[in-house]
Amino acid sequence: LYVLTEKQFLPRHEVTYPMEERGLQFGDGVYEVARIYQGTYFLLEEHIDRLYRSAAAIRLSVPFDKDVLMEKLELLREMNNVKEDAILYLQVTRGSFPRNHAFPAENRPNLYAYIREMPRKIREIENGVRTILTRDVRWEYCYIKSLNLLPNVLAKQEATERGAFEAIFYRDGDITEGSSSNIFLVKDGKVYTHPATERILNGIIRMKVKEFCDLFHIPFVEEAFSIEDIAQADEMFLTSTTSSIIPIIQVEEQLIADGKPGEVTRKLQAAYEKAAGLAVKN
Ligand code: PMP
Repeated sequence: LYVLTEKQFLPRHEVTYPMEERGLQFGDGVYEVARIYQGTYFLLEEHIDRLYRSAAAIRLSVPFDKDVLMEKLELLREMNNVKEDAILYLQVTRGSFPRNHAFPAENRPNLYAYIREMPRKIREIENGVRTILTRDVRWEYCYIKSLNLLPNVLAKQEATERGAFEAIFYRDGDITEGSSSNIFLVKDGKVYTHPATERILNGIIRMKVKEFCDLFHIPFVEEAFSIEDIAQADEMFLTSTTSSIIPIIQVEEQLIADGKPGEVTRKLQAAYEKAAGLAVKN
């Protein structure tokens, strides 16, 4: 297995980091996860564009220019002979220096990128998932895809321990997003989701869903909905790169409508599968 670093391609076991690495000690870095279906990248450029936006937001420089990075990632895929469904993980940190909060004097960021097999979550896509609610205790810059994921880790662990697939964050009574996904509510034929402010990560799949809604003339309303709105929802679903579009059939004890995936969700799932070149089922 080969890994791309800021210097070269290396066999996986040769990629090691010094104890004093800013990603490890401060979470001082940003990352991306992109989808690979049957050995082909899906929406890679969108992810790479967001990587540069995240990096700029924390005044971090990405070791390669976009064109060079895209070429190297294509090469990484070829070198690893990826044929299956997989994900690309890529992170950039402010580098390895003696521990000190302030930026190092020298600009020497670290980058690594690798590909790992990741099957589609077929069962969840088909049947839908249960979720829990948890208070959004994160900082105000959630639009940056930063390595600081402790609140997300704790939220997902709570969900896992309670037998749920995802934890949904709320802040001031409004649903913001999931611990690793964006959250949508369907009511009277309209799709509602939190606006792409600094309080959420503007998901690549979220932006795709917006496109699909435009295509189908489904109103896409970027207005936060509240915890109370959930009881009146016709449908709910979540999106992320690893999950694609997954119906939410329950939030805490509340069943969503009849507890079955809804019609609008199914339509968006079909559009997604078409866009990703996946076989449309049944
Ligand atoms: N919000 C958070 C907090 C996430 O971690 C993710 C997953 N990267 C998303 C939303 C969904 O983003 P995307 O569609 O780009 O995967």
